[in-house]
Amino acid sequence: MPYDTGLDRNPANYAALTPTSFLTWAAEVYPDRLSGIHGARTFTWRETYARCRRLASALAKLGVTRNTTVAVMLANTPEMYEAHFGIPMAGGVINTLNTRLDADAIAFMLRHGDAKILITDRMYSDVMRDALARCGTNPVVIDVDDSEYDGPGERLGSIEYEDLLRTGDPSFPWAAPPDEWDSIALSYTSGTTGDPKGVVTHHRGAYLSALGDIVAWDMPSFPVYLWSVPMFHCNGWCHGWSVAAKAGTNIYLRKVDPAVMLRLIREHRVTHFGGAPIVYSFLVNAPDELYEGIDHTVHCFTGGAAPPASVIEATERRGFRLTHIYGLTETYGPATICAKKPEWDELELHERARLNGRQGVRFQLQEGMTVIDPETMKEVPADGETIGEVMYRGNMTMKGYLKNPKATEAAFAGGWFHTGDLAVLHADGYIKIKDRSKDIIISGGENISSLEVEDTIHRHGKVMACAVVAQPDEKWGETPVAFVELKDGASVTEEELILHCREHMAHFKCPKRVVFGPVPRTSTGKIQKFVLRQRVRSTAAIDV
Ligand code: ADP
Repeated sequence: MPYDTGLDRNPANYAALTPTSFLTWAAEVYPDRLSGIHGARTFTWRETYARCRRLASALAKLGVTRNTTVAVMLANTPEMYEAHFGIPMAGGVINTLNTRLDADAIAFMLRHGDAKILITDRMYSDVMRDALARCGTNPVVIDVDDSEYDGPGERLGSIEYEDLLRTGDPSFPWAAPPDEWDSIALSYTSGTTGDPKGVVTHHRGAYLSALGDIVAWDMPSFPVYLWSVPMFHCNGWCHGWSVAAKAGTNIYLRKVDPAVMLRLIREHRVTHFGGAPIVYSFLVNAPDELYEGIDHTVHCFTGGAAPPASVIEATERRGFRLTHIYGLTETYGPATICAKKPEWDELELHERARLNGRQGVRFQLQEGMTVIDPETMKEVPADGETIGEVMYRGNMTMKGYLKNPKATEAAFAGGWFHTGDLAVLHADGYIKIKDRSKDIIISGGENISSLEVEDTIHRHGKVMACAVVAQPDEKWGETPVAFVELKDGASVTEEELILHCREHMAHFKCPKRVVFGPVPRTSTGKIQKFVLRQRVRSTAAIDV
């Protein structure tokens, strides 16, 4: 077997894939280009590389080695970016904590993930103090005292980040992991589905996902990337590693605020950013004058929740090139893209938005994604009607859930990763998500897609955000109830909205009740439907 002998792997022809290698490359090739801008602070790729090596070296001195968990509770700052390189360069596993969680949830994660080190921004000191008191472990605490933050909060730890960096070696001889399957990140799911599960990803997958984003987005060299996606969320959809691979410039952002975002887009001529659909709802409704002076092409990704067609339309009208993506923490963030076809450009905006509202097709770097009947494990017919579960397989899928073999086994049953999202497959191979399995409303035996009802409500020009959930009903089993947040200064009655729905949808799908007021969201812009379901259950109980 000539091809099986004498042709082995050796250090000259094989290296473990790791996204940290993108940083070395950017620093070697473009040392003087700007890697980041954070208010008054700027960094070059040479500086960022040196800071990451210092961090890796300092962490190694604190005992971080292969598979040590290092938790971070950080905003989208340079330190958070550096953590994505420095921690894995020391062999550690980065555990990004969701900055909006409460102390109990964080304490659970610190304990379950067994974090030996915690890097925390002063802004979150209240929650973190309680979490540290409750977690039952004793991580070394490093404070980030960001000069761009002048709000309340105190230092909790023994050393400040900049002082820590000074203890590290800027030429630290870091090495790629011995095995590209080694863990790089631990990310707890946001808990919209109950107990958080610790998603573990590997160097190889992170490397491929970062490149997958570049290919899917057609990202050219030197992107100017605005950090509106929280970096704690699936490692910022792997975009931080992509920016290094393209020697771009990171524009850091502590808080998503449309006025600040539009100012930064104009000032720094931002070329790329991402965000949940709600970010775009706020952006498109910002006053026209904030758009003045933005005369360059801006590419953006939206995902994390289904974007209403009206939001896609409005974003296009604002001149942004919006691409719809879909994925989960378990797939390193986006792994499906609504790939645009040139012939769609000829279509009416409304029709184009409808096509773009579909979640789409797999990333090139993900081997498989389709809609499968979970009972038979067969692909559903591509008829745009038969509902099945979205499933993935390939290199952009997690290793599994930490210390949870049962959940891991269930998630990978039949050789596919089960997402829990219900969708249909269209004739052109594009998928359209109808609901998460637990969000679908079953009324009189008919399935109602809550997303479809929300999409229709969104078409009413005065609606800012909305969520539709099932309300228990004696006669129908369940009926839809809509929670609606109106645009500033707008007023609409319940009857008007229900009538609007009846004009655009089958009547059984229309909400039977509309509740006006703020819609509860997670920090990543996902609506917390379980909170709303609890609310309708308790009011239903009172009504009875
Ligand atoms: P969690 O499961 O804790 O909410 P994730 O961030 O992993 O955390 O969420 C992934 C889920 O978000 C998907 O399973 C899906 O339900 C939803 N989602 C993400 N992107 C989209 C999209 N483009 N359209 C519809 N739903 C989406």
